[in-house]
Amino acid sequence: MADNEYLTVAAAEAAVLAEVTVLGGEKVALLAALGRILAEDVVAEEQLPPFPNSAMDGYAVRAEDVVGVEADNGRSLRVVADIAAGSWPEVAVTPGTAARIMTGAPLPPGADAIVPVEGTNEPWRASERPLPEQIEIYQEVGSGDYVRPAGQDIAKGMKVMGVGHRLRPQEIGVLAALGVAKVAVVRRPRVGILATGDELVGVEEALTPGKIRNSNGYAQAAQVLALGAEPVMLGVAGDTEASVRACLAQGVAEGVDLLVSSAGVSVGAYDVVKAVLAAEGEVGFWRVRMRPGKPLAFGRYQGILYLGLPGNPVSAQLSFERFVRPAIRKMGGYRAWQRPLVPVIVREDIGSDGRESYLRAVIERGEEGYEARLTGHQGSNLMSSMVKANGLVIIPEGVTEVKAGTSLQGMMIDWPEFVF
Ligand code: AMP
Ligand code: MG
Repeated sequence: MADNEYLTVAAAEAAVLAEVTVLGGEKVALLAALGRILAEDVVAEEQLPPFPNSAMDGYAVRAEDVVGVEADNGRSLRVVADIAAGSWPEVAVTPGTAARIMTGAPLPPGADAIVPVEGTNEPWRASERPLPEQIEIYQEVGSGDYVRPAGQDIAKGMKVMGVGHRLRPQEIGVLAALGVAKVAVVRRPRVGILATGDELVGVEEALTPGKIRNSNGYAQAAQVLALGAEPVMLGVAGDTEASVRACLAQGVAEGVDLLVSSAGVSVGAYDVVKAVLAAEGEVGFWRVRMRPGKPLAFGRYQGILYLGLPGNPVSAQLSFERFVRPAIRKMGGYRAWQRPLVPVIVREDIGSDGRESYLRAVIERGEEGYEARLTGHQGSNLMSSMVKANGLVIIPEGVTEVKAGTSLQGMMIDWPEFVF
């Protein structure tokens, strides 16, 4: 990994993703699998429905017995059974007979169709419905009508969902129906989060002169959590190599899948992260043509994938969005890695410096589609501008001037990627 390479955002993302592989699987309880990715194919060991059953409350009949019946020309059948859902019919429907049946109850032997209760003389609106000895049928039905055949939904042996399938509520329902109580899903990525800088104090500590609070560590941990991954806080390293090494050693000991640090990767005299990584890892220091952003360290530290983000809070958050998020998503087995993009009409003139720029904006639906208004000053240290924003307007590489009314892409940072 060459040092100080100048990379486009797309090239940097591709280089990161090329190093990422999907993690292994683990078995989790059915409900805990919601939102996770299948690590193994699901093959139905049972058919669904498991037995032919009635789609209606009514009478199970032999269709040949009710040929030609109609409202003023009914046919009387002898009632031989009353089949409730959950019971198993023992009595067969023979010519001239019928069995009362509930929705979901098994079709009795001999019957091949259901006459809905509305097509009979049963007083079906009454609260008490004793089983009649005879039933008048007024509705003609064909063989198979109102019968749900066994295996109609899912045949035994069928591959119901493949590896990589994302489990939504509807998948959880199918798995439950098939008796799958534990599901093999891709393990959640564990991500070590390190903040670096002598100026940093913890969120509960008092500020002394020259100090600021470590906000990046929390913002990045929250970004990891919001992705359904697990942050492992590695604390704050001071600007000494020993301190950085000690924190990273904790991450190595914890067996994290990815290390993410902020600050210490630019060209400052105290950029010790760079020194430690250069000594102990295979790490490249890139200059990404991205604004905000630019410096990015990427590679491996003692074998663990490593992404070193810039220190400025907005740069760190947006570099996370653009490079760490896809890596975590890919590790977790997901196929959609980026936030959704929508076309947006910019409502003001915007200047840029030719790098691919991600400008904080409020993006709202207007008369002609989505419209974007910047949240004000775009300094990479201004966290409040991220709080106001619900999206990012992307100015493409090479563009330095955008006129109001231009259509660009908006990255919807509040939307989940799963809008398919
Ligand atoms: P550096 O990359 O070390 O030059 O840091 C760039 C800027 O980011 C400096 O203003 C730092 O004080 C700031 N910074 C670095 N780390 C953090 C952090 N964890 N939380 C908030 N600001 C930070
Ligand atoms: Mg620093």
